[in-house]
Amino acid sequence: MRGVYVLVLSLSRNVVVKIGALGNIRFSKGLYAYVGSAQKNLEKRLMRHLSKVKRNFWHIDYLLEASHARVIAGFATESDKSAECRIARELGKKGLAIEHFGCSDCNCLSHLFKIDEFDFLEELMPSPSFLRHEVPGRIGQVKNEPTTFSDCRQRV
Ligand SMILES: [Zn+2]
Repeated sequence: MRGVYVLVLSLSRNVVVKIGALGNIRFSKGLYAYVGSAQKNLEKRLMRHLSKVKRNFWHIDYLLEASHARVIAGFATESDKSAECRIARELGKKGLAIEHFGCSDCNCLSHLFKIDEFDFLEELMPSPSFLRHEVPGRIGQVKNEPTTFSDCRQRV
């Protein structure tokens, strides 16, 4: 299946991470939303993002590899690629762009945004969003973190 996805990640500390060719970027602790697309094998892509062992290829790979970064939620939907940049623009209204991140192939300012909360993603993502992976409880008090999207699959 092809589609777009948004990963919500939590950074528990302020960190400086080398993001490939972008170089060192300072990230303050908090929540971030990243939008991407996979033109085939969407679920495989999502699983890849949740895996710590991989070769760094996309900008997001470098950030997810940082020791204080963790994916806490994911939203995905079947869609063509144009939805990716449309969602990025919407995220830009809600959050602060990390400039040039994840948007080498388009004209967006960014595909990564620092956000305050992510409840709005329920409505922002084109419906139906078919995956959601969310760790209950407050950030920093996580137990039994699921390791796969399918662990937490639920009807949206
Ligand atoms: Zn874009």
